[in-house]
Amino acid sequence: MHHFHYHNGRLHAESVDIETIAREVGTPFYLYSHATLSQHFKAFDHAFAGIPHITCFAVKSCSNIAILRLFSSLGGGADIVSGGELFRALKAGVDPKKIVYSGVGKTEEELRQALHAGILMFNVESEQELDALQNAAADIDVTAPVSFRVNPDVDPKTHAYISTGLAKNKFGIAIDQALAVYQRASKMKNIEVKGVSCHIGSQLTQVGPFVESLRKVKNFIARLAENNIRISHLDLGGGLGITYDREEPPHPDAYAAAIKAELGDLNCTLILEPGRVIVGNAGILVSRILYTKTNIAKKFMIVDAGMNDLARPSLYGAYHAIMPVNEQRTGKVVADVVGPICETGDFLAKEKEVPDCEPGDLVAVMSAGAYGFTMSSNYNTRPRVAEVLAKDDSYHLIRHRETYSDLIRGEELPDFLK
Ligand SMILES: *Cc1c(COP(=O)(O)O)cnc(C)c1O
Repeated sequence: MHHFHYHNGRLHAESVDIETIAREVGTPFYLYSHATLSQHFKAFDHAFAGIPHITCFAVKSCSNIAILRLFSSLGGGADIVSGGELFRALKAGVDPKKIVYSGVGKTEEELRQALHAGILMFNVESEQELDALQNAAADIDVTAPVSFRVNPDVDPKTHAYISTGLAKNKFGIAIDQALAVYQRASKMKNIEVKGVSCHIGSQLTQVGPFVESLRKVKNFIARLAENNIRISHLDLGGGLGITYDREEPPHPDAYAAAIKAELGDLNCTLILEPGRVIVGNAGILVSRILYTKTNIAKKFMIVDAGMNDLARPSLYGAYHAIMPVNEQRTGKVVADVVGPICETGDFLAKEKEVPDCEPGDLVAVMSAGAYGFTMSSNYNTRPRVAEVLAKDDSYHLIRHRETYSDLIRGEELPDFLK
C-alpha cells in the first residue's frame, strides 16, 4: 500500500505532481509520502496493541531527521547502530528512553555517548563489548542497561548478505553460550541485565523463521529464570519483508498474531525494530533518462541516478520496479537501466522489462525508501541527491542536494603541496 499513483496522466506522490518537483528540485531525488510513512508506522505499531511494546524504528533503513521526527511524534523509538545514528535520533527528538543500540562494533566513545544520553538498552553482541561497557559505565559512575543479542541459528530464508541469525554469521552470541555470559554480567557492578534480543535477518517473507527463533529465545529466557536471572525486555529485532516484485510477505497483523501466539504468558515489554516494512514502499527514487542506446546485444537506458545513489541492485541483485512518470509511455522493452558510474555493476535494472522511454523522460524507481538514500555515497564525486517529503498537495525539501563544495569539505592540501 502506498500513495504513488497516476492522476491526469502523470505519476503523483499523494496530490503532488512529480514532474513539478523534478522541475523545481532537479533530478535525481528521493521522494517519500508522508501518508504512506504514517500509515505503515501505525499499522505496524497497532498490530501489537494490547501488549506492552515499543516500536523502535531501525534508523539505518532511512535516517533523515524529518522522518525520525515523524515516527517519534507517533510514539516510536529508535534502533540505532552507531554514534552518528544516536546523534540523529536525539536531534530528531526521539526519547532516549525509547532508543536501543545494536551492532557488533560499538567503540568506547560510542558507548560513552549512549550512556550519557541515557538510552533504554544496549544490545551487546560479545563478552569483550560487555567488558568495555562495564568500564565505560564505571568511568562515569552510571549503570548500563543491557540485553544480549543471542544468535538462535535460524535460517531466515533471505539473501545471504542480509541473513544475520545463522551460527556462521558475525552477529550475536551463540544461544548455547549465552547463559554463562548472562551469569557473568549479572555480577558486574555497573551492568543491569535487562533483556534478550535477536534479529535474524532482513526482507523475511514468511513468519516461520520469526516464530522458530522466538521459540528458542523463550526457552532460553526460561533457562535464565531457572538461574535466577529475570528479564523485563524482549527485543525481537526487525526484518519483516515487503513486496518489491511478487513477494507475498505477511501483513504486520499476521506477523504480530503469530508472535503473540508464541509469546504465551511471557511477561516482558516487547521491543520491535522494523525498518524496511515501514519505509520501503513509502519512498521512490526519481531519475531522468539521459540517453538510450542499442548495441549488438541489447538496449540500454542511461539515467542520471547510479549505484552510488541506489546501491541495492548492484549489491544484492535486488529488484526495483521502474515506472514512467508519464502514464502515456505504455510501451515496454527489455533493457538495462544503467547509471553514469564507471562500473559494469552500475545498474538499477538488468535485462528487465521496463517502460520504453525517451531521453528527457522521468522514471520512478519504486520501493526505494529503505536502504536507498542511507546507502548512497559520493563515488565518482557525485553529490548525494535531495530528499523530498510529499504531504497532501505540497512537498517539502527535507535534505538539500549536496553542492560541489560539500564534496571536498574537510579535505586539505598538506603544506608541502601548497
Ligand atoms: C537492520 C536491522 C534492523 C532492521 O531490519 P529491517 O529488515 O529493515 O526491518 C533491525 N534490527 C537490527 C539489529 C538490524 O541490524
